[in-house]
Amino acid sequence: MKRRTLRDEPLIFERNNERRRRSGFRIPPLDVPETSPADAIPSEFLRSPSTTTPDLGELEVVQHFHRLSQLNYAVDEGLYPLGSCTMKYNPRVNELTAALAGFADIHPFQPASQTQGALRLIWELEAALKAITGMPGMTLQPAAGAHGELAGILMIRKALEARGETRDQVLVPDSAHGTNPATAAFAGFSSVELPSGDDGTVDLNAIDRMMTERVAAIMLTVPNTLGVFESEIVKISNLVHSRGGFIYLDGANLNAFAGRALPGLMGADAMHINLHKTFSTPHGGGGPGAGPVAVSEALLPHLPVPKVIKDGDNLRLEWDDSQSIGPMRGFYGNFLILVRALTYIWSLGSDGLREMSDVAVLYANLVRHRLKDAYHLKYDAPSLHEVVFDDTVQAEKGVHNTDIAKRLLDYGFHPPTMSFPLIVHGALMIEPTESAPPEEVEAFCEAMLAIAREVEENPDMVTSAPHDTPVKRVDEVSAARHLKTRWKPGE
Ligand SMILES: *Cc1c(COP(=O)(O)O)cnc(C)c1O
Repeated sequence: MKRRTLRDEPLIFERNNERRRRSGFRIPPLDVPETSPADAIPSEFLRSPSTTTPDLGELEVVQHFHRLSQLNYAVDEGLYPLGSCTMKYNPRVNELTAALAGFADIHPFQPASQTQGALRLIWELEAALKAITGMPGMTLQPAAGAHGELAGILMIRKALEARGETRDQVLVPDSAHGTNPATAAFAGFSSVELPSGDDGTVDLNAIDRMMTERVAAIMLTVPNTLGVFESEIVKISNLVHSRGGFIYLDGANLNAFAGRALPGLMGADAMHINLHKTFSTPHGGGGPGAGPVAVSEALLPHLPVPKVIKDGDNLRLEWDDSQSIGPMRGFYGNFLILVRALTYIWSLGSDGLREMSDVAVLYANLVRHRLKDAYHLKYDAPSLHEVVFDDTVQAEKGVHNTDIAKRLLDYGFHPPTMSFPLIVHGALMIEPTESAPPEEVEAFCEAMLAIAREVEENPDMVTSAPHDTPVKRVDEVSAARHLKTRWKPGE
């Protein structure tokens, strides 16, 4: 008999056995006249053909879902080095506070008199994030980084309107996250690509050339998606401001310098923060997250409403503001993410936050040092919290970054981010974060080195990977183009 491993758990429908029907419950015998469904329910409400549900016992159902849960990969399982995503551990104390009934059981329509604690939490988190960014204004409304970008760019548009200016371009570096040009376009601007210089940072001369009266803002990621700090940031800000433009900072990489440097001093006018990256709240699987936006003096009047206002000890939501860009959404539906983030910030304190980014940078540099002889580094400028290798060396043996990623699965690690940023061909973008135990970071490096040796000795082993997963290579293009989320009998 073939031994069943945890790895080959079938679909629950496939466990159905026509000849051995089981049931998770027993109902008492019918003691009223039997009616056929067609008599009891109008035919237009009857599904046709009727569905089949698997006939299984309760334990079989529990085992099925438990086994599926074991097939997941998570930060709680091992290193999750997905660059740009900051997949750090969500400390369990965050869950403790998020589960407090006073936070978990409130309703968005409750009056301010009953939600003073929740409003206070929003106010305190705004204050903490203002201190971390060194910027005077803050909104917690945006639900994600991309949504924060939109809020920031809409505020910039509003500020330009207030000055009676119509500027129609936003400069976006070629190394930017795809959400940056998408945001610019969504807010009604055309996004103009800014070329990176030889060291991977933006080219000040190019900005000087392109920074015309048509440009509303420049969107810069600090440190950029290569993990390299824009060392000319203050000069860039001064230049852009002197030509009447605004600085949008993409703060998704705040984990590299939180507690060490203040975006306010870099000249930022708006910057989003991903609470679900830097501040440890769980992410992956699509949410919920949170993308607060810090703003400079110039954008303060345009913050979204409602704003949380503190009059003495009393807090309230203020909706009335003609200069505001308006609400970014109806409710703080992700409120418990805010609870987790404030818990994290308060439990670390300012020393802890500095240590957080210090260790994140240290680990990224450890990985860089351990792997630099085996994998090619296109940009070898000193990097901060993440490091971007590529497959140039391995490609000579016909092995590409996807193959390396698939082989990592056999070694029990989640792969790094692939093929991003776009300026690095065959990119492998690694961000260990500070929360991984050092032995885990070391084991990941060992796995990467072992794969590099396999590429030399037995490249087929890598190009045919993964060997040890329930599903081998999937057709990613078809999966994206013809998404099927439902099993149908006979398909
Ligand atoms: C993650 C990320 C974003 C977008 O944030 P979401 O919360 O995923 O919308 C934007 N820019 C960079 C550099 C990022 O890493």
